[in-house]
Amino acid sequence: MSTIKLVIELKKYTVFLIVFIVLLLGFFSGMHLYNTKQKDIVDEKIAELVEDECTYLGETAYKEDLITVNNKEEKISPNCTIILKIYYAKCGHLVEKKKIVEESEVNLSEEELRQEFADWELQKFTPTEIVLYKEMDKYCGEHYVLKEKNGNIAVFRVDEDSKETLAELTDISTKYLEAEDLEKIKNGIYVNSKKELNETVEDFE
Ligand SMILES: [Zn+2]
Repeated sequence: MSTIKLVIELKKYTVFLIVFIVLLLGFFSGMHLYNTKQKDIVDEKIAELVEDECTYLGETAYKEDLITVNNKEEKISPNCTIILKIYYAKCGHLVEKKKIVEESEVNLSEEELRQEFADWELQKFTPTEIVLYKEMDKYCGEHYVLKEKNGNIAVFRVDEDSKETLAELTDISTKYLEAEDLEKIKNGIYVNSKKELNETVEDFE
């Protein structure tokens, strides 16, 4: 092999080597760029995922808050007033009674209250006010009759079966009553409310 040929051969190798190195460098830098880009994409995806999870957790917490509030709304509070309305069909009176909630009734849900007052109609349910209603085929407890007993005017309560029981013996003597009033008392003066009873008794005093 001549020296010139050798030089040419060497140059050829050098060219190949340079081309090869350039290609190799190009390949690696390409790979590096690709990896960096992929890494960025992955990072972005993780960021999105974290964000999604946060939103999801946030929503869950929000939903749990709503449930807690709903539960609170559905339970009887300790300062709740229960209004019991009874319609007495025999006299047509609607009697309303208010009662403070009992300890055993605090925190009951609407459904539990319905079970507790099974024979009542639940007309209103809020944590602070409950209205229960029922009808009874009776006279209410507000019916009285004034009669004479032991020479005085006596008040008898008339119950659902028209049975009369002594409620109060007044100190109003029948001795000084006018004949007309005495006649009325002997027959019995029927009144249909406590107010009417008080007014009638006052008339005799
Ligand atoms: Zn009545």
